[in-house]
Order: sequence, then structure tokens, then C-alpha cells
Amino acid sequence: MSHQVFDDLISAVEQLFIQRPSLSDFSPFPNDLRWANRRAHNGTAAALLEQWEAEGSHPEDDVHKAVQAAAPFAEWRQSYTEQQVGADFLANYGYFELYGPKGHYHCETSRGFFAYWGPGLNYGWHHHAPEELYFVISGNALFRSEGEADAQLSRGETRQHRAWQSHAMDTLEQPLLAFAVWQGDELAQLPLMQEN
Ligand code: ZN
Repeated sequence: MSHQVFDDLISAVEQLFIQRPSLSDFSPFPNDLRWANRRAHNGTAAALLEQWEAEGSHPEDDVHKAVQAAAPFAEWRQSYTEQQVGADFLANYGYFELYGPKGHYHCETSRGFFAYWGPGLNYGWHHHAPEELYFVISGNALFRSEGEADAQLSRGETRQHRAWQSHAMDTLEQPLLAFAVWQGDELAQLPLMQEN
């Protein structure tokens, strides 16, 4: 059961890479995926996501629906502590790694993960060694990056971060479902939250 919903999700993501060159130009869809048989780890984000129906028939909506189907079987994680981000943030955020060094599919060449944030959250300044592309699947948010203008991004829009470039993000009235791709060094590390 769970293997099938993840295979369906992989197919939807592969289609997204074909339909949206912003993704494939940043990092080709990996061809070294191996099913890792990870156990489900429930998170509050899974329940919040299940209540959020995709409306249209864009490739992003197909991914949204496939993420909803996989959500109950996903190994949901949180990178931060309550001291770092607060209880409200932790109650309304979560991510799971679709592919990567610790993903549902093992992959050494890149890392792709889905992350959910509820409305009205402030994701503080952080950075990491891998280069990153954020691709908005549903909802919108205000993306902030060191040395660049802030940008409010919606479905299909992207934001790229260089190695160690600081970035932050605020959700507004809507939640955000994003697909993030990492490539480069230290794919298995966690982001480092910076002092504000
Ligand atoms: Zn990042």
C-alpha cells in the first residue's frame, strides 16, 4: 500500500520535472532511486494537509493530490526545536524527504522533500551547504533571501538559494505546500537556524 502511493507520488513529481523546466534546469530528476521502506511517522502537518483540497488540474495539483495520498504513510519530520521556532510553528509545520540520503527513496545525487507550513508563520533566517530550489506546489508565501528583494510566490513559482545564502520565509493568509530540491555537498545535514 504505502509503496504504491509513493510510486504514484514519484510519477507525479517526475511529470512535474518534465512540465516545469525550472525544476529540471536546476537539478535533473534523479535516475538512481531505490525504495528505502521507511516507516510512517505521523505529524500534525499530515492532518492539516489532508483537509486542504487541490482545486485545479495543473501538474502542481496532481502533485498536491499525490502528496495528500502519501501523507498518512510519510515519515514526517521537523528540523527545529520549540526553543528555536516556538510551539505554534511546530504545530503547523512538517516535511518528509521523498528522495535523498534519508528519503523514502534512497538517492545520493540530490534530495527532494515536501514541506507544509500553515498560515501566519515566520520561518526565521537559516542556511545550509547545499544549493536549494523551492518550488511552490500550492498556496503562497513571502520568500526572503540575503541580498535579494522579497518575493511573494504562488503555484509554479520558484526561489533559488546558493550554498550558505541566508533565507527566511513568512506565510500570510494561506498555507504553503512546497517541493524543495537540494544538490551539492552535505545533502544529509539539517539547516542551521541563525540568531536574529
Ligand atoms: Zn533552505
